[in-house]
Parts: sequence; C-alpha cells; structure tokens
Amino acid sequence: MQLLTVGSVAFDAIETPFGKSDKIVGGAGTYITLAASFFNQNQGLVSVVGEDFPKEVLEKIHSRGIDISGIQIPEGGKTFFWVGRYHNDMNSRDTLVTELNVLGTFDPVVPVQFKNAPFLMLGNLSPDVQRKVVDQMEQRPRLIAMDTMNFWMDIALEELHKTLKVVDLLIINDEEARQLTHQYSLKTAAAKIMELGPKSVIIKKGEHGALLFHGGQIFSAPALPLEEVFDPTGAGDSFAGGLMGYLSSQEEVSFDSLKKAVIAGSAVASFCVEKFGTQRLEEITRNDIAERMSMLHQLSHFELTGYGAA
Ligand code: AMP
Repeated sequence: MQLLTVGSVAFDAIETPFGKSDKIVGGAGTYITLAASFFNQNQGLVSVVGEDFPKEVLEKIHSRGIDISGIQIPEGGKTFFWVGRYHNDMNSRDTLVTELNVLGTFDPVVPVQFKNAPFLMLGNLSPDVQRKVVDQMEQRPRLIAMDTMNFWMDIALEELHKTLKVVDLLIINDEEARQLTHQYSLKTAAAKIMELGPKSVIIKKGEHGALLFHGGQIFSAPALPLEEVFDPTGAGDSFAGGLMGYLSSQEEVSFDSLKKAVIAGSAVASFCVEKFGTQRLEEITRNDIAERMSMLHQLSHFELTGYGAA
C-alpha cells in the first residue's frame, strides 16, 4: 500500500568521538524512505533540494522503489545543510550549523498519484509545512504519523498544536515528550499528548528502547544492545521509516501490528547507527532485518507459567 513521506533531503557533516564525516547525504526524508524501502516498494517522497544535490543520489533513491517526482529542485537553490556534534555518551548532540537554504521557502506539493496514499509520514519539518501536506490529501489517509523536535516547540508551539490535532500517531523522543507536556512521567506525558490529538504515541528512549501507547495499552520494546555505535544520526528517522514501512505492508493498523512495527523500526535503527550516514542502510538486506527482529524477540521473551499468567 502506498506510503507518502515529507521530509528533508540534506547534506550533513557529523562529528562523533570516533571521527568526523565529510559533507554526506542525510536528511530525515532520506533516512525514512530508505528504511521503509525494506518493507514497501510503493513510496513517494515530497521534499526539496538545491541544484548542488547530486542527481545520482536522487536516482539511487528512485531505484529503491521511491517516487521522487515530489522532490523540487528550485533554480539556483542550495541544499539544506546541517552539522551535528555528538557528546561522549553518544546519546546527546549539539547542532552546530543549520543552513535552511531551499528548505527555508519550501512549499510542498503532493504529486497527484499520491493524493490518496493510505499511509502518510510527516518527517521533522515546520508544523505548517507538515499540515500543508495533510491538506493536499484528497482522502483522509488511514494513518498519519508525525515526528517533531524541541526546535518547533520553542518557536512554533501554536502551529505544532494545530498539526497534532490532525495526526494519528506521534513519534517523539523522551526529552521532547517531557518538554511538550511538562510531565516527567512518560506515561502521563503520553496521556497528555493523546489529549492533544494523536490516538497513539511512541516515545523513543535511545539506547533504552521505545514505549508504545495505544488505546490504554502499553508496549515496551528494547533497543538491541550493540557493541559499537558509530553515528546515531538518522536513528530516529530510520526507526520511523522502518515502522511505517512495516505497518503499510500489513492488513490492519492495530495494537498488535503497531507492536511488530515498533520492533521493525528498532531493527532498522540498530543498523543505521553502525556506520556514518546512510552507508549501513545501503548495505543490508531484508533478511538482515528479519534476523535482528528475531534477536529483539529473544531479548525480552520469557515464560511466566505458574505465576498466574495465561
Ligand atoms: P535524527 O538523527 O533521526 O534526529 O535526524 C537527523 C537528520 O535530520 C539529519 O540527517 C539532518 O539533515 C536532519 N535535520 C536536522 N535538523 C533539521 C531541521 N531543522 N529540519 C529538517 N531536517 C533536519
């Protein structure tokens, strides 16, 4: 089933305690669609790049079953550029540079062939750009998911609230969930977020996994303990992409399919962090992901017979 994503396609430069990358291709839209392509070959990406963006990279994205007709290339424009530096624990980072360039005036246009897409993923962009995409859909998608970040809470909180009202699922990290709701307990934070609009909330906790809240039920997914984390950039987007790719390949959206989608997202994200940029995601196969999904299953599975469990 069709999955449409709106998100940045970018140049990134990354510094970690283990090294520094050159200017490499990144962006939330890139990571999301790449991650989803393991489960869904019928995707569309709405984005914008400058004339400086390599055509062969766009072709590479296209070759993974992603329709790129919604990627605008304004004449003379420069691609969005982001520089991030990770701290020693790799869980936190500073943004050193954000050059919006073509993203600053981005007016998204949904290609006609995706106006009835049943799955819509709103990558981390300004909340009004996210809503412009929702408004162009001819039919209300079956599931609209969104990501956001503290930056938008600081400068566009009112707009963010308007977008939250029209989505079904918010995917957010723990720190951001606390900032948005002024609640320390993630359970209370999720309940507050649901009052703002979304029926389901996923709170990511980095190397500690993720919590899914859906209709009064909670599911806790571990993150795969890894020996080496090389570059966490794009982990959140790969999680969202794996999750939406998996969900859009399923018959229905339910607590059960959402649980498996969270595991699929965790599995893809666990690969993303092993190398700089999108490199690792470009090497792996669907089988590698299936293997990690089964490792995640093993990691927290136990028998409870004799202790009152069914
Ligand atoms: P993540 O590590 O999953 O949070 O996402 C990192 C990606 O988000 C990088 O590849 C950046 O290019 C992109 N990014 C960072 N800041 C922004 C922003 N303000 N708007 C859109 N994309 C961004």
